[in-house]
Amino acid sequence: MSTLRFKLLDEAFKRKAVVLEPEEKRPSEFFGEHVFNRAAMAKYLSKRTYNAIIDAIDNGTPLSREYADGVATGMKQWAMEQGATHYTHWFQPLTGGTAEKHDSFIEFEKGAVIEEFSGKILIQQEPDASSFPSGGIRNTFEARGYSAWDPSSPAFVVGDTLCIPTVFISYTGEALDYKTPLLKAISAMSEAAVKVCHFFDENVTKVFSYLGWEQEYFLVDEALYAARPDLVLTGRTLMGHDSAKNQQLEDHYFGSIPTRVLAFMSDLERECLKLGIPVKTRHNEVAPNQFEVAPIFEETNLANDHNLLLMSLMKKVARRHNFRVLLHEKPFKGINGSGKHNNWSMGTNTGVNLLAPGKNGMENLQFVTFLVNVLMAVYKHNDLLKASICSATNAHRLGANEAPPAIVSVFLGKQISEVLDKLESATTDEAIKMDPKAGIKIGVAHIPEIFIDNTDRNRTSPFAFTGNRFEFRAVGSSANCGAAMIVLNTAVAAQLNDFYAEVESLIAAGTQKEKAIFTVIRKLIKECKAIRFDGNGYSDEWKAEAARRGLDCETSVPLNFDAYLRPKNVKIFTDTKVMSEVELQSRCEVKWETYTKKIQIEARVLGDLAMNHIVPVASRYQSILLDNIAKFNALFPADEAKTLSEEDTKVVRKVSKHISTVITKVDALVDARKVANKITDEREKAIAYHDTVVPLMDEIRYHIDKLELIVDNEMWPLPKYRELLFIR
Ligand code: ADP
Ligand code: MG
Repeated sequence: MSTLRFKLLDEAFKRKAVVLEPEEKRPSEFFGEHVFNRAAMAKYLSKRTYNAIIDAIDNGTPLSREYADGVATGMKQWAMEQGATHYTHWFQPLTGGTAEKHDSFIEFEKGAVIEEFSGKILIQQEPDASSFPSGGIRNTFEARGYSAWDPSSPAFVVGDTLCIPTVFISYTGEALDYKTPLLKAISAMSEAAVKVCHFFDENVTKVFSYLGWEQEYFLVDEALYAARPDLVLTGRTLMGHDSAKNQQLEDHYFGSIPTRVLAFMSDLERECLKLGIPVKTRHNEVAPNQFEVAPIFEETNLANDHNLLLMSLMKKVARRHNFRVLLHEKPFKGINGSGKHNNWSMGTNTGVNLLAPGKNGMENLQFVTFLVNVLMAVYKHNDLLKASICSATNAHRLGANEAPPAIVSVFLGKQISEVLDKLESATTDEAIKMDPKAGIKIGVAHIPEIFIDNTDRNRTSPFAFTGNRFEFRAVGSSANCGAAMIVLNTAVAAQLNDFYAEVESLIAAGTQKEKAIFTVIRKLIKECKAIRFDGNGYSDEWKAEAARRGLDCETSVPLNFDAYLRPKNVKIFTDTKVMSEVELQSRCEVKWETYTKKIQIEARVLGDLAMNHIVPVASRYQSILLDNIAKFNALFPADEAKTLSEEDTKVVRKVSKHISTVITKVDALVDARKVANKITDEREKAIAYHDTVVPLMDEIRYHIDKLELIVDNEMWPLPKYRELLFIR
């Protein structure tokens, strides 16, 4: 008897919602309370120091040592008043997640202990980096890595610790994190976009990259979680038969939020708001026990820091509510997975969203210019964009149960598609009609009257235009958004640079500016057509069609990473100075290694569960049936006994078949791993894991899931899908 499972079920079932302390203040009053934001800086820094730091934040001016000391002193005082005793540089190693090493403020001075925090410590540290993946960049004898302050993301206090967002680079200057290339990609995009903006408006001096992520997640009662070693060790269920009811009725999405969950959400929101994360939306997602939280969009670097901070807060807060949060992309087979939709746009310092249709012809020409350049960037680098969201975990989600397929295409919607089609077929002279009042009118396309029908959505598209932004929906729920945002901003930067050069050369050859812009836009519309797809991205026909169009259809994760090293992709990184070839190579090494390790861990957990949890229980059940059959044979005449035990005999045959297959396949799994482990090349090793280990895991799971349906429910040791997904 599986007494543990039933004891835990009982515990989980009886759980009540945690009652939160009433919050006296309104969100507007406590928003950013734990952040060393502009208001706090104004209060704790001298006027001169404040001006210097604001200049550093807004214009990237390096902060001199003199001012750094001033900032550090003010920051320390503020943090100590918040209850902080420790500080840490907070960075984003390539492992995913964030890293921190806490030091306390105390220092010795003249034999006594004082609280000290200098500008030097604020600005730069040298954490021992030897345990972080570097993909071979760092020599083992040179373990040092630098973390250096990113003033554009404000410091904040969590618990007793002052956290200082930093970049993380090697001794030789290569990026070992996501933040460094992200900052470079954002500024490369800004530089390129500003040049193109100047065709339309000379006043633009900066273009911001904006990101509004939507974070999907599952909650599971912690008692049930504890009884699932696969969830604990890998973040997903490696086995488990479908629950009879799951999401068929579509009764969960946007349904009323369960009380325990609502308490968790409110608690999380409070913490988020205090840390300056502008969370706004919360709702049930499609799958049972799946939910979503989304903030108001922010500048991409800050938004990404906020997403990372949110993920760690979620884990902490969930525990206060006896939940565990699952950020894995596919915790449950056959059930919707979790993504992190990255809503992305570009906006000028003059307040114009470059991806929103405007009010007049000139504004709309600008809109179409940026839209088409994004399309072209996505078209040229669709392989790279896909690589940026690929991981061992997201692989289970892409292409399965209503998740974006492993092919990047763009949904534009009917209106915008028509505009582009008309622009494409018109002659330049038809397209441009001078209008002295409105400036340029895009005659054929009625662009001045564009207004976007926001309901025109296609949830099957991995990269959808949603009226004033693009939504990159293929990003995984556990991912660092940085990976996708680095590629997107870099690809768009490179494309805008090309566009600018082409238009400039036409102008230099005597073409009028608007005509030159049109000529190039129309050429791009024709060239990037293959990326546009408004149909059903989940269908098999699309896979065939996409292959015909020459889009990247590779599904093997290790092979997808190759995109980072393809010459056309290396070129955009190096041209924009976002990453060097060495950095790209090292990033791939880390990606391959991480892939291998994740599969390796899963395979080991699966082998262990199969042999120590499932097979013994199934054998015991088999033996009960055999006893039964033996008793029939002992008590009844032979032919009657045969009839009476017929069903039991059938079941025994099935159980025994599944057991022996599981055992054989687990042996094969161990062998496949041994072979793969001997390979030294990280790429080859990851490919071996993908090609030989993963398929065996799927087979083993198949037989275990069959056993789950046969074996006596009372004996089954692991909480079942219906329990994990419906108890809340
Ligand atoms: P839906 O689920 O309908 O796609 P949500 O309201 O859940 O939309 O989330 C939309 C996200 O897009 C939010 O984070 C929002 O702040 C963000 N967003 C809205 N406008 C922009 C924009 N111009 N640029 C980037 N993100 C945006
Ligand atoms: Mg949403």
